[in-house]
Parts: sequence; C-alpha cells; structure tokens
Amino acid sequence: MPNRKAKAAANRLAETFDVEPGPSEWKRIQLGRSDSAVIGCPRCGAVTDLHDSHIAPDGAVSPAFECRQFACGLSLHIVLEGWAADKATETHS
Ligand SMILES: [Zn+2]
Repeated sequence: MPNRKAKAAANRLAETFDVEPGPSEWKRIQLGRSDSAVIGCPRCGAVTDLHDSHIAPDGAVSPAFECRQFACGLSLHIVLEGWAADKATETHS
C-alpha cells in the first residue's frame, strides 16, 4: 500500500464516507440533498472529492477534474461512466 498515507491526506471526504475508489474509479456520495462523487486520480491514484464541481446528468464533470495532490496536478475533463444509470436505480423516481 505505497499510496496509503498520501491518499488519506488528500482524502478527508472520502474517509468520512468510507469509500476508496481505485485509480479511474468513482464512487457516489450524498452531500446533503445532492449527489456528489469521489474519484481516484487516473495518474496517481489519490482520491479527490468533487463536491465543488458540477456533475451533469450524463456524468460530465465541470470544471475539469484537478488532482488535489500537488505533486501530481493532473487536470482532466472527465465523465463519470454510469452516473446516469446508477442514479436512476437509486432515486426510484
Ligand atoms: Zn493525481
């Protein structure tokens, strides 16, 4: 687990929700009444939360994802694959 400490430091929110997505994976979290997500950086694996980002119904994240790890600094336009389908099964609307 080489990244464990760095991940924990960058990762307060994910810890709070007890989720730990792997690189390029994301997990849904519930923030108040809105859905958000945490995502594992595709480059360094650090977990970053998206609570300051807007997630479109199709999963597109804006503004671009920015890795919170200073040493990484990856900036990338991302789409959360399966966001819409996942949401549909969870909201029962
Ligand atoms: Zn990164």
